[in-house]
Amino acid sequence: MVKTNRLMPVEPGEHRTHCIRCGTCCMKGGPTLHRDDATLLEEGVLKKNNLYTLRKGEVVRNIDETLMALEQEMIKIRGQDEAWTCIFYDDDQKGCKIYDHRPIECRALKCWDLREFDEVMAKPRLQRKHLIHPDDRILKIIGAHERRCSYAILEASVKGLRGPDAEKAVEKILDLLHYDDHMRLVLIEKLGLAPSAMDFFFGRPLTTTIRMFGLCVKQEGDTLVLAPLESHRS
Ligand code: SF4
Repeated sequence: MVKTNRLMPVEPGEHRTHCIRCGTCCMKGGPTLHRDDATLLEEGVLKKNNLYTLRKGEVVRNIDETLMALEQEMIKIRGQDEAWTCIFYDDDQKGCKIYDHRPIECRALKCWDLREFDEVMAKPRLQRKHLIHPDDRILKIIGAHERRCSYAILEASVKGLRGPDAEKAVEKILDLLHYDDHMRLVLIEKLGLAPSAMDFFFGRPLTTTIRMFGLCVKQEGDTLVLAPLESHRS
């Protein structure tokens, strides 16, 4: 199949032919990991707390800024604090802290020509089950979490907000958010899981990703309250 020579957006009139170490690609977010990247975890270059999971049904932004709901989960390298910038990007040095061991997407990405990147994108992606021992009980807990808190269930509940049983839909959404939040706290306490690895095991908290549905939650005392995103910002 002949692929088009797609280009990432650069400044108007700018035509690049080589990397100018501007850091834009690393500041747009860490890479998605593929099966070929599993060795980076085996070798200790990457650790689970460097990663987060985007779960099936989660809405993500593509490199060309289009949005799509994931048909299958994917694992990505985290950003720095609240920013998208990859945790391994060194702004002072304008470079990658794991350059010699960077994931395959990073190796393939040339912002002036995305053909090689497109080929890597088509390779099989890593999932949580590839990085967890089959006997580890956390796999069963992850499965139970998926059944209880899937994005399909959350989306159906959000659609219910426009129906005759809107109050029940609000209750259901808050129940999902509360379960997702509470379960993480319990597992940290009971199983001694690292708080920084929770986004790998269970994806980002629903209290954060509910934003993809134009909603947010506010804490009022001990109670979570659901609100439209705009009213939360104002
Ligand atoms: S791993 Fe390195 S090259 Fe890849 S996005 Fe992060 S800083 Fe950039």
